Amino acid sequence: MATTTPTPPSTKKPQISIIGSLNIDFVTATPRCPGPGETLTATSLTVSAGGKGGNQAVACGRSSFTSQTTQDVSVNMIGAVGAEDPYYATLLQPALEKSGVSTTSIEQSTVAQTGCASIIVEEAIGGENRILVVPGANHAGLLSSVENILAALKSQSDTPDIVVLQGEIPRTTTLGLLEYFNGPGDRAKVVFNPAPVFPEGIPLSALKGTAVLIMNETEVVQMARSIEGLPVGDVVEGDDLRPEELAPQFHERADVQIVLITLGAKGVYFSTKTGRTGIVAGVKVAKVVDTTAAGDTFVGYFASAVARFLATGRGLEAFDDDIESAVSKANAAAATCVQRRGAMQKTGIWV
Ligand code: ATP
Repeated sequence: MATTTPTPPSTKKPQISIIGSLNIDFVTATPRCPGPGETLTATSLTVSAGGKGGNQAVACGRSSFTSQTTQDVSVNMIGAVGAEDPYYATLLQPALEKSGVSTTSIEQSTVAQTGCASIIVEEAIGGENRILVVPGANHAGLLSSVENILAALKSQSDTPDIVVLQGEIPRTTTLGLLEYFNGPGDRAKVVFNPAPVFPEGIPLSALKGTAVLIMNETEVVQMARSIEGLPVGDVVEGDDLRPEELAPQFHERADVQIVLITLGAKGVYFSTKTGRTGIVAGVKVAKVVDTTAAGDTFVGYFASAVARFLATGRGLEAFDDDIESAVSKANAAAATCVQRRGAMQKTGIWV
């Protein structure tokens, strides 16, 4: 009788590509905001690395270390910055690379500057933020062309198992990437964090088949209201938010496999197309210092957990047994994040 040789398990490390924004954050702390025509002495200026794409890449990278030098997931960033930008060289690139993120696919744009955010933190009202973003290279060159992004992905040594997308690059690019990766064939699974939500919404056809959709309490309401085919008038928000009524809409109408709704300190509501639902409580922290990038840290850690799971050869439908543990670990990382100041410098923990 002929014997068959079993296929050896794949030794390829799972690969995550984060396609998104890179920013330099200029954070000015001030007792109060100046009025029109007024000049005030502020308390401090901090310049730091940020952008949702970069923050999520750093979180993915940090979650992948099994020791100080070994990673069990390969992470690379597809993004763009202004050419020869000293802030990129001294802040963004070191933050990404120290976190184990490959920067070789980051375009050095000659037509646009690095994206930047001017953030005013008003101390008199509990550190409330006012933020102005200049997208710069995040909305030009590489990130304005789906074809160029796909070519950048193809030129890598390994094709990604997961792509992570947010809302800080052009809407047309995001829709094109959703349509491509959610389309037929053996393509990377999409982890989509629609933050910020595009005011024009997302067509159901682009969202259809998304593997993982991660939204906070505001985003889930905006998404539910802006997607054709989802309920319009009866979406309640704030303290009345009903995640258990919203999540099934994304499964049923948009065929989303996993829906996660982050609830700040309360934790995360999770729901899978195969029927597993629940809330994983947030980790209690002694003192909240700065919640910037808590959501991004959660996204990065969860994406890594999904990548590790898919590398075992099982389909995402089988993730139901692992989902609570993955959410718990991502919650723990996000709770660590809220206890530190800044965006990218603190996204995550060594595991
Ligand atoms: P941000 O915009 O501040 O990055 P977000 O609005 O996208 O965050 P949140 O729902 O506020 O997302 O927080 C994301 C996750 O971070 C939560 O699900 C939780 O795990 C963690 N988290 C947020 N705030 C706290 C907190 N005060 N204590 C503990 N964990 C927190």
